[in-house]
Amino acid sequence: MSQVRINNLRKSYGALEILHGVSLDIEDGKFVVLVGPSGCGKSTLLRMIAGLETVTGGDIFIGDTRVNDIQPKDRNIAMVFQSYALYPHMTVAQNMSFSLRLKKEDPAAIDREVKRAAEILGLTPLLARYPRQLSGGQRQRVAMGRAIVRDPQVFLFDEPLSNLDAKLRVQMRAEIKELHQRLGTTTVYVTHDQIEAMTMADEIVIMRDGHIEQRGAPLELYGRPETVFVASFIGSPSMNLMNGTVVATTEGQGVQLGDGSVLTLVGNWNLPLGKPVVYGIRPEDIDIGRQDISVRVSVIEPTGPETQVLGTIGNDKITIQLRSRVGYLPGEVVALQIDHARAHLFDPDTGRRIEAA
Ligand code: ADP
Ligand code: MG
Repeated sequence: MSQVRINNLRKSYGALEILHGVSLDIEDGKFVVLVGPSGCGKSTLLRMIAGLETVTGGDIFIGDTRVNDIQPKDRNIAMVFQSYALYPHMTVAQNMSFSLRLKKEDPAAIDREVKRAAEILGLTPLLARYPRQLSGGQRQRVAMGRAIVRDPQVFLFDEPLSNLDAKLRVQMRAEIKELHQRLGTTTVYVTHDQIEAMTMADEIVIMRDGHIEQRGAPLELYGRPETVFVASFIGSPSMNLMNGTVVATTEGQGVQLGDGSVLTLVGNWNLPLGKPVVYGIRPEDIDIGRQDISVRVSVIEPTGPETQVLGTIGNDKITIQLRSRVGYLPGEVVALQIDHARAHLFDPDTGRRIEAA
């Protein structure tokens, strides 16, 4: 049993409350990613699970044990940090076995564990090397090896890839995910990078200012963001969010944007006419076709498979991702269509999603 349960968890430093009552159940074996902007409390939450920060209020359970007052070393967790801080004077094998040697485990068992972890991580040929003789990715793998040898109930990762270059980050992302698929150990992974969250998580927990904004499977959050914050945080390029007002159309209701264009709302809507709304549409849900909107092109960015068009519609900025190659010129006004069924509506006052009746 290694599920993690967090119940109304609070953290204050003096009078300043950093976590405002966070509740979260993490199922046994799941890979959960905590994501959110810098300073929202991700590391604090993770460090509280690890036992590196005291609990101001609420409870943390690992398995069936309430761990609030249990020492970090007795929680049966392993944590990997951004700065993987290997001991420079120890070989890879010595670095990996350090915690087991501290616990005075049987040398033969330690040797077995190190070999097993090295095998899993592809470190077997490197066991006699020193950290300075390793690449960044290999060092990060040793840091993970140190965690694996302890065969913990829970892995905790705090931005473990932030120090790596972009290419290596993508590679290590896949390696960590593969590792999880192999070991099946419950994992809580912190990152500020929404792409890391989307690609790695079974479940994403989006944090903002010390509370949970929304949680769900990656594509659930992508397809149905509950708030403007989640809508703009998840997805790259970000969702277009434009201010408009509700108007009547021949088919039902629509949203009139600042430039006068009216976008049909699909489904059964019964909003007060004239109500201000935020109209959200993802860059890939806009295409060449019938004329829904007129966009003045400012920049064209071909990426190979796609073309990203940055432009303006009235006074709003808009980003469009086309699957075709286009020869638009800066300043040109082009007619584009919107996949109406994929629009998102939000209340500008509360920031919350509005649904059809
Ligand atoms: P994140 O990991 O999401 O970037 P942190 O959990 O590190 O955020 O920090 C959350 C907030 O708590 C920040 O505003 C940070 O300044 C504050 N904080 C973290 N540690 C301390 C501390 N020891 N004393 C006071 N404030 C702290
Ligand atoms: Mg942090």
